Amino acid sequence: MTQQTYKGHCLIGDVETTKRKAKNECIRQLTKERDADSNTESWMVMFQGRYKPEYWIILLIKKDATLKSIDRTLRDLWLECCDHLSLFTICGHRFRSGQDWDGEDDQMDVKINRIFAVGLTGEHIYDFGSTTYLTFKVLDLVLYEPRGLNGIELIAQNDQPDIRCSVCGQKATLIWPEYTSDEFFFCQECFEERDYDEEMSLPVVNSPRSGVCGYCGDDW
Ligand SMILES: [Zn+2]
Ligand SMILES: [Zn+2]
Repeated sequence: MTQQTYKGHCLIGDVETTKRKAKNECIRQLTKERDADSNTESWMVMFQGRYKPEYWIILLIKKDATLKSIDRTLRDLWLECCDHLSLFTICGHRFRSGQDWDGEDDQMDVKINRIFAVGLTGEHIYDFGSTTYLTFKVLDLVLYEPRGLNGIELIAQNDQPDIRCSVCGQKATLIWPEYTSDEFFFCQECFEERDYDEEMSLPVVNSPRSGVCGYCGDDW
């Protein structure tokens, strides 16, 4: 079996890497660029699209952050379209956003130092209708403080996958979500040749939620 290479960048030092090498590259760059602080411990966690492994990120997360703050970061970076519900599943325990009317699940305001350990894996889902499925793995515990809001910093991310127009093969920029055939991705030119309503199209964005519901990316 040939293994796919999923290219990306370590954002500390802005160096090229791949999904497989990203953890070691992040540690190398942290060591080079920043001072270790023996009073600080942070989790290094990789998230990826469960069915779209070409989308991946590594977050540096303060040791006692909450699942809620991680959920908020995932929404900001990758997921948020219309405030859908989300859910973490970790070792058979479920932690959900919003009110749980059945009382079966825990809330997300739990601190992760009570749950996380190096090597731990889990799942995150966003939107119980048009669901985006993510998995994550705790890669390491390191002596560096995250720089960023809520004690969470994005330190590595995949490069935008090369998505091509279904008609002509040029770089695609638009998605037609109401697709009825194989025609799904479009360049501007091919899109304009059709009678589709531009308002109904979605942009191609660097997220496992690209093309789903009303997702337009974090900079739209
Ligand atoms: Zn939505
Ligand atoms: Zn085209």
